[in-house]
Amino acid sequence: MTTPTTTTSIAKPGFVSTRLTTPYWRAAEAGKLLLQECLECGHLQHYPRNLCTKCWSQDLQWKEAAGDASIWSFTVVGIPGHPAWGDEIPYILALVELVEGPRLMTNIVGCAPESVHCGQRVQLRPHRGARDNQTLLQFTPFTRDN
Ligand SMILES: [Zn+2]
Repeated sequence: MTTPTTTTSIAKPGFVSTRLTTPYWRAAEAGKLLLQECLECGHLQHYPRNLCTKCWSQDLQWKEAAGDASIWSFTVVGIPGHPAWGDEIPYILALVELVEGPRLMTNIVGCAPESVHCGQRVQLRPHRGARDNQTLLQFTPFTRDN
């Protein structure tokens, strides 16, 4: 007889570090959010890719983001996309726009879901302790104390 599966017995999916993304995830461990800057045309992009999405140049360098952003769109998740997050509902999944321009999908933490709104200023709050002690780059509402 097998033991029934519960949400607490399922590991949360995590990232897989590759040759391309290892510098990104190492910086995340240090609490930093990296963008890629194209040395050909100056375009900034997130997430890491082998090519500039504007001019296709492969001449890219890492650039640390300030960590300041605003909420471009969001949803409050009541039915998780993966059962491992069942214990965390409701949680906020948001598309935030960095002051540098790129948008990224992240979680908004440290606030009540009903307090979140589009255009809200948020700031980077890395969260260590995800699967295999990985660091997630989450955001929280801006306060002067953060
Ligand atoms: Zn470019």
